[in-house]
Amino acid sequence: MNKVEIITALDVDSRADALEAVARCGVCSWFKIGLQLFSREGPAIVEAVRGEGKNVFLDLKLHDIPNTVAKAAKAAADMGAGFITVHAAGGRAMIEAARNAVDGSETQILAVTILTSISEDVLRNEVGLPETPEQAVDRYAAQSVNAGAHGIVCSPKEITIVRDAVGSGPYIVTPGVRPAWASKDDQARVTTPADAAKAGATHLVVGRPILGHDDPAEAVRLIEEELNA
Ligand code: C5P
Repeated sequence: MNKVEIITALDVDSRADALEAVARCGVCSWFKIGLQLFSREGPAIVEAVRGEGKNVFLDLKLHDIPNTVAKAAKAAADMGAGFITVHAAGGRAMIEAARNAVDGSETQILAVTILTSISEDVLRNEVGLPETPEQAVDRYAAQSVNAGAHGIVCSPKEITIVRDAVGSGPYIVTPGVRPAWASKDDQARVTTPADAAKAGATHLVVGRPILGHDDPAEAVRLIEEELNA
């Protein structure tokens, strides 16, 4: 099995806090920059984290007409993002456009299926999909990879469904991971790093268990130890 990578979520508001977190995370080589930090600090924070020799997962969950998403994906590739996210619900043409825009760069496209904040009731009665969330995740994952996505973001409980849907090649990136020693915080359904890896995840997004630890580098080391056990 390939090495499962830990991605530390930089859920902070400023460049100073982000770079301090990067410095405290020791050997962790991946960091997630989402809407919170990107909306405050823009492309410069991506370039600054890259400048520390780290990989960036730029989680902006793009969803727009294909031409606009392609332009944004190209901009993210120019910033040096290793992963970017698009919504699977944007459809085949949008994902193909994003993929074409990053081809030739190191940027890989991840599709987000159904947000875990969307319940079955909301999916049916507000979004208007007749399927269960699991059925929609299955369909969206297969469709997205066929359209050119390099991987899928999903909750730990959907890793097996996604792996079956996309085969062995694509990345599976999952948040909601908690080592046994960490608090669950507000994550209702959590999986340990080892179980997520066993189910087929390739990258684990971990926030508070690392950045809330007295010694983030030690937290990263403990998670890696659990993954390698
Ligand atoms: O602190 P924690 O480990 O819970 O952080 C997990 C990260 O993954 C956060 O950036 C959070 O927004 C993100 N995430 C999540 N659950 C989802 C999707 C994203 O926790 N379903």
